[in-house]
Amino acid sequence: MEKINHQKKLDGLLEKIKGSSVRPKLLLHSCCAPCSSYVLEYLSGYFHIILFYYNPNISPKEEFEKRTRELQRLVGEMPLEDKPEIIVGEYEPERFYEIAKGLEDLPEGRERCFRCYRLRLEKAAVLAKQLGADYFTTTLSISPYKNAQKLGEIASELEGIYDVKALPSDFKKKEGYKRSIELSAQYDLYRQDYCGCVYSKAERDRKNREKNSSCG
Ligand code: SF4
Repeated sequence: MEKINHQKKLDGLLEKIKGSSVRPKLLLHSCCAPCSSYVLEYLSGYFHIILFYYNPNISPKEEFEKRTRELQRLVGEMPLEDKPEIIVGEYEPERFYEIAKGLEDLPEGRERCFRCYRLRLEKAAVLAKQLGADYFTTTLSISPYKNAQKLGEIASELEGIYDVKALPSDFKKKEGYKRSIELSAQYDLYRQDYCGCVYSKAERDRKNREKNSSCG
């Protein structure tokens, strides 16, 4: 499949919005505070944003709650002229385990992750439609570990199903990831060292063990 330049498409769209008096409504799925920091800084001047924190992949529940609190604190502290409302989705890990079935042993970045993207994006698209948002997207593409092309493919498919526009996005462009690290330091944000699910946590533990056993 031909590689799409999502950033170029977004640049064109933002240019159009700048010249208009209307601020479109964006349903922004948020995976965590650090990834949301840059996206909020970047897009809040163009859109009326509703943040949707829906991440049934995260384990354990305490981690889900910790990331939720960090997002709420960040939004409270950032000097955004149009403060986004935050909607916290239900914590329903059974939905994640259902889609991960049979793919538990795959490393990060493969089919299990694609299904995990879809689970969260689909819920965001449905909510965007219900709330009459003009666009939906996710902060996920800011991470160098996330596949922006795959996220874009899934979002376009959902756009057709739910009749709500997917905002073209690849937030790691324009130094987005670097800026999210700066903002995380500025707001003293908790930066998790595993993606979120129990499998990524096990992968992190294994890598740590290997690193420690090769030391000294
Ligand atoms: S590694 Fe991350 S993206 Fe992949 S399934 Fe786990 S939580 Fe989802």
